[in-house]
Formats: sequence, C-alpha cells, structure tokens
Amino acid sequence: MKKANEIEKALILLKPYAEKFTPKQDINYFDYYKDKDGVLISADYYGGENYCEDCVGKAKEELSKRENLPKDFAEFVPMVESSPEKEGFCYCEICGEIIEAGYLPNEQTIYYWLNQHDWELDLKKDHKHCYMLYIVLECYRYYNQDDSLYIDIKKYKKLADKVIKAFNL
Ligand SMILES: [Zn+2]
Repeated sequence: MKKANEIEKALILLKPYAEKFTPKQDINYFDYYKDKDGVLISADYYGGENYCEDCVGKAKEELSKRENLPKDFAEFVPMVESSPEKEGFCYCEICGEIIEAGYLPNEQTIYYWLNQHDWELDLKKDHKHCYMLYIVLECYRYYNQDDSLYIDIKKYKKLADKVIKAFNL
C-alpha cells in the first residue's frame, strides 16, 4: 500500500469539501408516452437524454412541443433510472448539473483532469470539483489489474499530486 499514500492523502484533503456538494438525485429519461387511452407506449427514440428532478418538467414540456408526435400521443411519461451506473459523470441535459450515479472509472475523465489547464482552482471553495475529484480518485481502491475498468495507478498518483499541490497554493 506504500505506493498509494499520496492518493489517500489527496482523498483526505478532498473529503470535507466534497461532502458539502450535493448532486442532483434523479436521472429522469423519456422512453415512454401515454396514448389517449392511457396506455404506456415505448418510444425510446425520444430517450437517451438525462434530466434532473428540477428540470424534468421543463424537458417534458419541450419534448411535447415536437412535431410529428404519434397520432395517439397524449403525454410523455418520465421514468427514473434505478441504480444507474455511468462511465464518467452524468449531467442534466438542461441545467448541466451532476446527477448522482454509480461512477465507473474512465480514462477520459482522468485525462481531462490531468490536462485541464485551470489548476488555479481554489478547491476549498469549489465543492463541486472536490466532489468530482474525490469520486474519480476513490476508484483506485476498487479495481485491480485484472479488471477491465482498471486504470494505471500512475495516473491516479499524478492526479493526486495535482490535488495536493492545489490545496497548498
Ligand atoms: Zn437539471
């Protein structure tokens, strides 16, 4: 475990700030509409986008304004994803906020953080970024080299170094 020390250190630094951020809670999507008799009809060609609990009403309104809705269309019915897991973070299509979901590690997210230029972040004030970094870094605990989701520990260490530096600014 010696190798992982700086990652644990970064996690300890991030945790109190990460806990101050509350992501949106529900991943809503529209895969169904109700017809005029109240029957649920699959319409997953409208789906694919995620909306948080605060924006789902607006999303429903917008979708209902579309042309070429089926003749028997009455209204769209939002569904909430249960136990969602996503590669990377899940964002609301309308407000852009993070919606809570099981996070599966992916290289692009780490790549983004390692290469994003704006490391002048004041992490103590930026609870959302602390939350994201915490979740990304925490993954190193759960996946080993035999796992398809494993990411080279060196990348986590590099990212942890950046976090520790940012806290010492
Ligand atoms: Zn939203």
